[in-house]
Order: sequence, then structure tokens, then C-alpha cells
Amino acid sequence: MASSPDAAVIDLATKPKDHLTALPSELLHLVFDYVFPTHIEDIAFLQEDVLVRLKKTPHDLEKLAMTCHSLRDELDAWARHWVISHAEIARYKPLKNQKKESSRLMLRAKHCIFCGKYCSRSAILSNGFRCCTKCDLKHWPDKITKTQAKEEFNLRDHQLLPQQHSPVLVKHGANKFPRLRYGTCMTSNIRTTMFLREDVRRLAEAIHGDVEAHMAAQRRAADARKRKMEANAEKKRQMDVEWMRLIAQSTY
Ligand SMILES: [Zn+2]
Repeated sequence: MASSPDAAVIDLATKPKDHLTALPSELLHLVFDYVFPTHIEDIAFLQEDVLVRLKKTPHDLEKLAMTCHSLRDELDAWARHWVISHAEIARYKPLKNQKKESSRLMLRAKHCIFCGKYCSRSAILSNGFRCCTKCDLKHWPDKITKTQAKEEFNLRDHQLLPQQHSPVLVKHGANKFPRLRYGTCMTSNIRTTMFLREDVRRLAEAIHGDVEAHMAAQRRAADARKRKMEANAEKKRQMDVEWMRLIAQSTY
């Protein structure tokens, strides 16, 4: 006999199911792998007090581990496997109490995630990880600034970052173009927004179609505007010269 809608509601209210701890370890560890990298896109534009608050906020995996012993044990096992498999770059030395591995992993923020060198900078496009400049260039090559993206691909701010300019429209799915991944950093004391050139090119193709043809048309139009401005300036100069000549004639 089919159960009534009321029965389903009663079941959910009186018998809550913990679907997460019911997952096998392999699946849970995949979830941890996915949650582990973190990224705050506009970090370079945040106020100092907000940054301090963020640094004090526990990682989502730490919050998860606090919910029950079962998830804490799973997280410890996952973290132990992670540091052992990255032992060379993570400079792994087993702790006496292996159950503390997960805490240690979350606090591990002093070495490049790729080469293990001590470094204080973060990866621009995944700033939850420490990453040296060399590895950042290697693993996220061909990054460009927002200014370069606008000039090279004739894009506007609202096309590159619609979520900042039209958040309501984006929330309601009005933006049909792909959302760009980006990061922010300080470059020579200037807050800079960085994209991957290939991501920007794909967006430009979605908006303009053939990017090379579009940019060639833009250059031709710019050349035509420049020629017209120069012709107008020359015409004005000649009129000024003629005017001065007439003034001189009338004076003598
Ligand atoms: Zn490195």
C-alpha cells in the first residue's frame, strides 16, 4: 500500500537519517578531497578585520570533524593518507598521536603545496594553499590581469565579473555566459584581479564569436576614428591659420 504524504513527513521528523556517516570510507574521502581546497576570490579587497576573522575561522573539515567521533575518525584516516602520499613535499614526520593528523593537516600552511619549499604566499587561483611563485606559474600558466583581459579581448567589467555588477540578475540565471574563475592579489601594492587567458578567451568567443575577426574589426574601427580625429584637427588648424592671416591683413 502506498504511504500517504503525511506519513513521509512524520518519518522525516521522527527518524532523521544521517546519510553522511552512512557513506563508505572511500566516498567520504572523496568528499574530503573536494572540500579541502579553499579559495576566497576577492581576498585582496577584504578589510583587515575581515581577514583576521577569516583566519580564525576553522576549516570546513575541522567543523565537520567536531560533529561526531565517527567523522573525526574518518577525517583522521583521510588526513593520514594525504600526508603520507605527499610525504616528500609535506615533510611528513609521523606524530606520536596519529589521531591528531587531521588537525595538523588543516594547520599546515607554511610550505608550497607542490614543491614543499617554505613560502608565505598563496596560490592566486586557489588561495587556501601555500604556493611559491615558480609553482604558481607552472600549475596555472598564462594568467592575465583584468586590464589585459579587457584590452586583449574587448570585454567589459560587467562581462568579466557579472556577479559583482549585476548580482541579482546572476542569481536568477540571467547571465548565460560561463562564469570565470579568478583570484586577487597585491602586485606592487596594487590590488590586482587575475584570470587564466584561456578562460577569458572562451568567454570572449561566447560573446563575440570569432575573436580574431572581432578584434581586427575593432582595430579597423579604432584606426578610422583616429584618422577622422587627425583630419578634424588638421582642418581646425588650417582654419586657425587662415583666421590669423585675416587678422594680420586687417591690422596692417
Ligand atoms: Zn613550489
